[in-house]
Amino acid sequence: MFTQEQIQKFNGIETPFYYYDKKVLDDTLQTIQQELAKHSGYHLHYAIKANANIDVLKEIQKMGFGVDAVSGGEIQQALNAGFDASKIVYAGVGKADWEINLGLDAGIFCFNVESEPELQIINELAAAKGKVARVAFRINPNVGAHTHANITTGLAENKFGIAMEDMELAIKEAQELPNVEFIGLHFHIGSQILEMDDFVALSNRINELQDRLEKQGVVVKNINVGGGLGIYYTDPDGKPVPDFGKYFDTYAQNLKLREGQQLHCELGRAVVGQMGSLITKVLYVKQCHIKQFAIVDAGMSDLIRPALYDAHHEIQNLSSTEAEETYDVVGPICESSDVFGKDEKLPKCHRGDIIALRSAGAYGEIMACQYNCRKLPKGYLF
Ligand SMILES: *Cc1c(COP(=O)(O)O)cnc(C)c1O
Repeated sequence: MFTQEQIQKFNGIETPFYYYDKKVLDDTLQTIQQELAKHSGYHLHYAIKANANIDVLKEIQKMGFGVDAVSGGEIQQALNAGFDASKIVYAGVGKADWEINLGLDAGIFCFNVESEPELQIINELAAAKGKVARVAFRINPNVGAHTHANITTGLAENKFGIAMEDMELAIKEAQELPNVEFIGLHFHIGSQILEMDDFVALSNRINELQDRLEKQGVVVKNINVGGGLGIYYTDPDGKPVPDFGKYFDTYAQNLKLREGQQLHCELGRAVVGQMGSLITKVLYVKQCHIKQFAIVDAGMSDLIRPALYDAHHEIQNLSSTEAEETYDVVGPICESSDVFGKDEKLPKCHRGDIIALRSAGAYGEIMACQYNCRKLPKGYLF
């Protein structure tokens, strides 16, 4: 639901653009802070890949959270936004030398290492700088998640992480290398997860692995459970803030942390998803024999999730209160998959009506591209 004042402002901005609702972001960040404070030794590293808009990042940084980066560009953007390097963790299966060097120079908290050859390279590059890099191993826990197949990451068949059976070998190797320090284990099973049972399954798996390591006298200072908490795409107004309480409690009840062990999580979508809407205008209403199309000025180059993952964003006409009609809401891009919604019931659409595609704060603006030589959409926080 938007206020008349918000809609008034939308009218003065060139479409398409991303609107970030400051109140929803503030409410979300405050809820996370309150819920985190109920548990000692819990830390949030915001997964910057979900939305790297500088104004949004500054709000997150102000709350004292850290960052989860998956590229050198993301490390740089986090530093630009004022995040403390000591709160940056860095994951990714293909870290290039310059990216590792950037992390070493900045003095990030931890490299989440995804393979044995990567460990060797981090050791070499750190040695060249006379530094010791803190490393955690990303372990592939072979835990499925009830989500879209393209966004599961923790199955044995996925490219991410080190296999459980190789965990001890990797740790032993890290302990023998002079320029890396083993400080933890990292996991990430997927995204848009709404069933807490998936996080229970991950907790159980981590407990098993910890028991195994404990018998061998290996000390693990940090456990990082990754991200993945989902949002309610069908109810952006009714459920603007995800259930962070339930999420952290699930870990508190199921994950057996050892004495002094710190728990890190890397939520992305849940932090920024519901604050964002892609705001677009109706260019034409086109009548065909079997269909009626509302052709809008935003396309899959601005918001690719529907084309990429069959994702659905609630569509609202903010300009019309007339009786509803049925439309396929489509963009201007030369691809048949450039469709935001089929058979959508919307108040009668006219040229110039403002349309909001809701719950687009995560994996929206940041995934935009210039296909068809289009302009990149801008993001506005107010
Ligand atoms: C993508 C990703 C996240 C964030 O996932 P969300 O579903 O947006 O919370 C966290 N950690 C890692 C390693 C990731 O790749």
